[in-house]
Amino acid sequence: MALNIKEISEVIEKQIKNYGKKVVQAEQGTVATVGDGVALIYGLDKAMMGELIIFPQNVYGMVLNLEEGAIGAVIVGDDTLIKEGDIVKRSGKIVETPVGNEMLGRVVSALGNPIDDHGPIKTKKHKPVEKIATGVMARKSVDQPLETGILTIDSAIPIGKGQRELIIGDRQTGKTAIAIDAIINQKGKKVKCVYVSIGQKDSTIAQVVEKLKKHGAMDYTVIVNAGASQSAPLQYLAPYTGVTIAEEWMENGEDVLIVYDDLSKHAVAYREMSLLLKRPPGREAYPGDVFYLHSRLLERAARVNEKFGGGSITALPIIETQAGDISAYIPTNVISITDGQIFLSSDLFNSGVRPAVNIGPSVSRVGSTAQIKAVKQMSGTLKLELAQYYELESFAKFGSDLDETTKATLEHGARIIALLKQRQYSPINQINQSLLLLAIKSHAIKWLPIESMESFKNEVMTHFEKNATAKLIKIKVEKAIAYDEKEVAEATKEIEKIVIKMTKNIHDYKATNYGKQEDFNKLGK
Ligand code: ATP
Ligand code: MG
Repeated sequence: MALNIKEISEVIEKQIKNYGKKVVQAEQGTVATVGDGVALIYGLDKAMMGELIIFPQNVYGMVLNLEEGAIGAVIVGDDTLIKEGDIVKRSGKIVETPVGNEMLGRVVSALGNPIDDHGPIKTKKHKPVEKIATGVMARKSVDQPLETGILTIDSAIPIGKGQRELIIGDRQTGKTAIAIDAIINQKGKKVKCVYVSIGQKDSTIAQVVEKLKKHGAMDYTVIVNAGASQSAPLQYLAPYTGVTIAEEWMENGEDVLIVYDDLSKHAVAYREMSLLLKRPPGREAYPGDVFYLHSRLLERAARVNEKFGGGSITALPIIETQAGDISAYIPTNVISITDGQIFLSSDLFNSGVRPAVNIGPSVSRVGSTAQIKAVKQMSGTLKLELAQYYELESFAKFGSDLDETTKATLEHGARIIALLKQRQYSPINQINQSLLLLAIKSHAIKWLPIESMESFKNEVMTHFEKNATAKLIKIKVEKAIAYDEKEVAEATKEIEKIVIKMTKNIHDYKATNYGKQEDFNKLGK
């Protein structure tokens, strides 16, 4: 789309004519070139960065390049309606989105407009999508847990309100599943949720909406969708719109969980836009400011102090890796911006370990201070035991001559892994989590075969529902205090009762091949 000589001379002529005059065209400009969702515009000298500009036929654009005499803008609507020479007007406003409780239960576009069939959104309030993140003085340390309902995560990689925890893994490893489960688990917990979908198939989003509806989660959730069929500028805008909606609630003292699914596609959309705007490409052809793209977004997650409303935004960004390569450009960027990461491995996923969390490299840097005391107390050695298991497991492949302790560690680890398996849409509450962790910690699981871990899990959860000890434990968890020794002993005894019952029902305890008869006889006593 080269400029023709006539056009250039026209512009120069106009400039000569206006030379020395104070008022240059500031409120109105003309389209010089347009194509691929990007327009170069002469005039509009007063335009602001990120300003919304209006093309004919009500097509909107956003200013992204400010140069002398011209500006570059991306078109957020149908660019085929725009021709060279069209008049462009300033709006004087930065791109905005509607905010407020009216957004709940809705599916909106990257500009906050409804795209479901529930009619217009009746909000009075709008907010610019770009904002400087909350400053240090307004923040408070993370001290409350954000429960995901996923045993592996809440026990070993706990997340706190206001934290940014990355979910990273190859394609089809259950990344979205973890985020959706976390949203579903917020039911009745006074946490509002925002799910931002970037560059995904519309059919995938339809499924997500349906699942959230089915589990009653749409009542407190808003979905911002810039699908694969949408233009790059819209995909670029979607997460900022999402976090702006979340910020409104945070400023009102509410807790919000926001999911960005996923930021790899977001970076790709930004790369496309930048290349079209003729910004110089850098590593992997991403523009130089791609780090800032994500850092200014994720910085907006925060836990603010009472003076600023006392709310929080917890962010769960998702990154897709290629063949587990976490040292690529975008993954390393986002890893360095977030407060920890949950690694999902396709090997684990394919071997049936789901959620496929690879505990080794997964960390949560701030969440453990916020973890519920009883869960923390019970999960102390879990990560270590699993690490030992994985290390020994790779050794065990080479030789069959293993000593008793190694065998026991392997048997124990295999049971932990089986116990940590969890289906989608079935969150486990903190009371049950602490009890299951106690079953691991007390090694009561060693008397049961690996195959019966799932039924054992269900037994534990139902047993304590109607048990007197459970009432006491419930209070503990609700008040967020640790168990005392007596309670631990009591709860252990209850768990052992379940084991005895199950060993009678299923089969002989000897099948587990570790543990001694005399120890077994002491169970439940
Ligand atoms: P993509 O890269 O396509 O976005 P993803 O990593 O987000 O994929 P999901 O879509 O969450 O992965 O999950 C992939 C498949 O695995 C889905 O069919 C999902 O139902 C299934 N799945 C995810 N988690 C579990 C689980 N805990 N138990 C059983 N199935 C699961
Ligand atoms: Mg996904």
